[in-house]
Amino acid sequence: MIIVMKPENSKEATQKVADKIKDMGLKPVCMEGTERTVIAVIGDERLLEKLHLDGDPAIESVSPVLTPYKTVSREAHKADSIIDVGGVKIGGGFFGVIAGPCSVESRESFLETADAVKKYGANFLRGGAYKPRTSPYSFQGLGEEGLIILEEAYQKTGMPAISEVVEAVDVPVMEKHINAFQVGARNMQNFRLLQALGRAKKPVILKRGMAATLEELLLAAEYIVSEGNPSVILCERGIRTYETATRNTLDLNAVPYLKQHSHLPVIVDPSHGTGVRELVIPMSKAAIAAGADGIMVEVHHNPAEAMSDGAQSLFPHEFERLMTEIKGYLELEGKTLA
Ligand code: PEP
Ligand code: MN
Repeated sequence: MIIVMKPENSKEATQKVADKIKDMGLKPVCMEGTERTVIAVIGDERLLEKLHLDGDPAIESVSPVLTPYKTVSREAHKADSIIDVGGVKIGGGFFGVIAGPCSVESRESFLETADAVKKYGANFLRGGAYKPRTSPYSFQGLGEEGLIILEEAYQKTGMPAISEVVEAVDVPVMEKHINAFQVGARNMQNFRLLQALGRAKKPVILKRGMAATLEELLLAAEYIVSEGNPSVILCERGIRTYETATRNTLDLNAVPYLKQHSHLPVIVDPSHGTGVRELVIPMSKAAIAAGADGIMVEVHHNPAEAMSDGAQSLFPHEFERLMTEIKGYLELEGKTLA
């Protein structure tokens, strides 16, 4: 059930309604919009009838949400959500270009790549410190040392830093150093991890599982938002199909579908979506044309020596070309880099 408060209402009036809902044994999730506050009610909605909320003068409307995901649904929140990641916005016309190497490999190389992507116009940094590798013998990431490097890069460049979280126990240490969490494809349905991130205070970029449906992705986002963290960004990163020419099949249907059914920002990762460096620029353009709110792109100063995902990483000069070539597409879509 979705309760829309009247625009002129105070925080106290919203709190009163939320308290009434809690007293019935239901869970209210308050979402503050620019104009109106919306309360999503989780639990047996039949109990709500006893409260006769539609007679409350502070309330504009009460309506059921028909989708299985509630708080992230477009029905719950008509306007696009704008997420603030370390002081830079994504969504609702603000475009995010998240760039950096797959893994943080060393302080020097990371700072070098960070400077390059900043010079060419990226507004967020990426870099894995805890890497979920297919083989236990592959480079597993620098751990906390990597987080410290990410924090230094953020301080030096002013670009908020994003890094993948693989375990709930790492949430507190990561939150100290980075600006947003990334949940990787392999953990999209790690529900305990999602709940822990729901209790965290920083935004979450939630990547689609490689065999996950869009409904499963939206329900995974629901785990985070219903637990109390409204700042979720959805990420299409390609799915497994019978095609072997590319690492994954980038499902760009996901972008307009997710944007129609959810108010959350949707970004695209053409690096993992294709696995092929030469396909990253064309698919970035396609993502923007499909309505994406951002792209996440792997860039390495020397991809041949990258410790992970070199084949799909752009050289800095290719990233420069990407930034030049997407300008017109962004203009056409009315998107700006915050
Ligand atoms: C990554 O971003 O480096 C990564 C591991 O992505 P995914 O979870 O999409 O495979
Ligand atoms: Mn990678």
